[in-house]
Amino acid sequence: MTARILLIEDNHQNRYLATFLLEAHGFQVIQADSGPQGLELAASHTPDAILLDIQLPGMDGYAVATALKNDPRLNPIPIIAVTSYAMAGDREKCFAAGAVGYIEKPINPDSFVEEILRFLPRKSTETPR
Ligand code: MN
Repeated sequence: MTARILLIEDNHQNRYLATFLLEAHGFQVIQADSGPQGLELAASHTPDAILLDIQLPGMDGYAVATALKNDPRLNPIPIIAVTSYAMAGDREKCFAAGAVGYIEKPINPDSFVEEILRFLPRKSTETPR
């Protein structure tokens, strides 16, 4: 089954590049360009994972992550933060808001999808231990 990724990103170029890379690896991508739209699409599509830009106008990524985690239906969906913030403490802030992973911008086309795969839950087809 194709994994569905919700991409919440306000920058058109980043959205284009991330979508291109994910689709090339067989993912289905749902795009949102704002926090509120992302929350709406998360509720209507229940994606397998959410790629969340932290620097969003209006409602920022931390607020989006908090809202997702406070919704019992959306709470289990893994959130991977994508941010160009380079300051110390941002990683911790992302994890505190509920993210399971953290990818730094600029997006590296050679490792982007591989990095995301590390944070996705194991497929049910895998042998349980
Ligand atoms: Mn942004």
